[in-house]
Amino acid sequence: VALATLAEASGPGQTADGHEVALLANIGTAEDAERLTDAAVQGVGLFRTEVLFLGRTTAPTEDEQAVVYTRVLRALAGRKVVIRTLDAGADKPLAFVTRQGEENPALGVRGFRLVRTAEDLLRTQLAAIGRAARETGEQPWVMAPMVATVEEAAQFAAIARESGVATVGVMVEVPSAALRARDVLAEVDFVSLGTNDLAQYAMATDRLLGELVDLLDPWQPAVLDLVALTAQAGAELGKPAGVCGESAADPVMALVLTGLGVTSLSMSPAAVPAARFALARHTRARCVEIAEAARDGRTAAEARAAALALVDPEV
Ligand code: PEP
Ligand code: MG
Repeated sequence: VALATLAEASGPGQTADGHEVALLANIGTAEDAERLTDAAVQGVGLFRTEVLFLGRTTAPTEDEQAVVYTRVLRALAGRKVVIRTLDAGADKPLAFVTRQGEENPALGVRGFRLVRTAEDLLRTQLAAIGRAARETGEQPWVMAPMVATVEEAAQFAAIARESGVATVGVMVEVPSAALRARDVLAEVDFVSLGTNDLAQYAMATDRLLGELVDLLDPWQPAVLDLVALTAQAGAELGKPAGVCGESAADPVMALVLTGLGVTSLSMSPAAVPAARFALARHTRARCVEIAEAARDGRTAAEARAAALALVDPEV
């Protein structure tokens, strides 16, 4: 009964003692945005724009993109929307930009690195986002994927601000960016942890290789440490540090992430009610205890078991 009531609840996600953690959705299309009628979802924490580019032989024009971004912003009017610029390459190949024949595409020219060879693609996309923002009067946040260095964060921030984007961020999904999160955050307004890729790169494990899922586990203590470093940097600089990887969809992990200091959780929309319920059953101090217990684990199994032992059994 309690779960049913909370599943329908609206307003910000919050712990039992009222500490707010925004509960957001990961989407890939305008249709996804239009389906987000559930009041439990406070907005979009990750709009994966590569879906617009997939299956085409040429890039979508500024006009074509502006139509889609406008639809998304209209569907979510007044709610937060974080648009991620094109994340092509590796597991998301695109006919017209992805290089053929890279030996290690996950370590190659992917994500923001495309700016080196195709800056026009990024500028066109940012122009389309700017147009959609003006047309709707909404203020989307915009972030770049696969940023590894401070220079990349600064370069993206400069291009995005030149294009009229007001709130600029980068994803932290490469361990180097997590280890130096303070310096990266100094260049931007917010960061969003991509735990799918962060686990892939921290554990040197291809995210597409099913047989290695035990290594790709977001409960790996090394991955939790990288999240903790990033969240700490966000707290120190007073800037948001959210999570938009699928790990946020595990309610027990959502408590750990909250305890580590993460400021928002973005996941597939269906997972939001369970995360909302889990948060409402625990105080912020309890989340901190759960996170510390998890980080004391030496293995992923120990980390998860230690967290679970402190979690309300109804979660
Ligand atoms: C991630 O890497 O965790 C992420 C959210 O981005 P994607 O899954 O699109 O690479
Ligand atoms: Mg990623």
